[in-house]
Amino acid sequence: MNKDDCIVITGAGGFIAGALTRYYKEKGFNKIRAVDIKPLDQWYQTVEGVENFPGCDLKIKENCYKVCEGAVEIYQLAADMGGMGFIEHNKALCMLSVLINTHMLMAARDVGRVERFFYSSSACAYNTQLQNEAAVTALKEEDAYPAMAEDGYGWEKLFSERMCRHFTEDYGLETRVARFHNVYGPYGTWDGGREKAPAAICRKVIAAKDGGSGEIEIWGDGEQTRSFMYIDDCLHGIDMITHSDVREPLNLGSAELVSINHLVDLAEQVAGLKLKRNYKLDAPKGVRGRNSDNTKIKKLLGWEPGIPLAEGLAKTYAWIEQQHFDRKAGKRTVS
Ligand code: NAD
Repeated sequence: MNKDDCIVITGAGGFIAGALTRYYKEKGFNKIRAVDIKPLDQWYQTVEGVENFPGCDLKIKENCYKVCEGAVEIYQLAADMGGMGFIEHNKALCMLSVLINTHMLMAARDVGRVERFFYSSSACAYNTQLQNEAAVTALKEEDAYPAMAEDGYGWEKLFSERMCRHFTEDYGLETRVARFHNVYGPYGTWDGGREKAPAAICRKVIAAKDGGSGEIEIWGDGEQTRSFMYIDDCLHGIDMITHSDVREPLNLGSAELVSINHLVDLAEQVAGLKLKRNYKLDAPKGVRGRNSDNTKIKKLLGWEPGIPLAEGLAKTYAWIEQQHFDRKAGKRTVS
């Protein structure tokens, strides 16, 4: 890549694509287009020297063609998404992201000189029947088939991955696909219904500490397991996968499996307190256990995400705590 080549990053008003915009700007790229449907004042972060396209709905085909004009690399991260509470109650909305993926792929195919099209898929694309135990066997890339993805959101991801594959085979568009496993970090959604477990747990611990309630509500029995990848690992992985010659989907996730109860332990350690745990057993919980098998990414790229959860969570907690007190003081916050 030449530093003056045009990079298009979609979903840039949100968490990961916002951080990716900063990442490429700091690497010295001069022509970055950041695109999101949200108005600029709702973007989680904005980066100086980047051309912003706020209010741009990428479900509309013409908008995709407009933002892809002259692009050399495209990072397609725009989607309607959230934690389990959101995706279990918004299946149709999640599936409508297929319009974004369809129109972005068509635009990338047609505008001329796109060398790479990166697509952010998800661990939700995996067969849910392999994820019924807390002591789960980590998911390998081939476990997406036979297909039984997370209803709604996961099926859309699997379908769009498949579209990427066929755009490569039939039109020669160089697509790269990563299946993200739970990403967390500063500048992520931390309130409002779309937040994921690490941010939600930090927020609840901070609120309990500040308000003195001594209690925390946990969704499910807390024994469900997941792995969580810190944002810096995610950005590095996106860069490596995009610039590799690996055309099939790759896991991009941490292999440090923890229970939600352990996640709460870690947040309590940062806060320096212990809370009474109230388990909400009828809350959305998702699959029982999920972990990333990193055999393939280690073999093909010689790397895997490695930032320890305790380290990343401490940074995330500190950022959410600041957001909490900013909100109390009437200042603008991210979510
Ligand atoms: P996010 O919600 O913070 O960011 C997504 C952004 O896309 C939002 O700012 C939203 O406004 C924008 N968007 C939605 N519809 C749009 C449209 N029609 N036109 C233009 N922009 C639109 O989410 P995130 O956590 O940053 O996730 C980024 C990508 O990574 C998504 O595709 C998501 O499915 C995928 N992913 C994320 C995780 C995770 O743990 N965060 C895990 C797996 C996959």
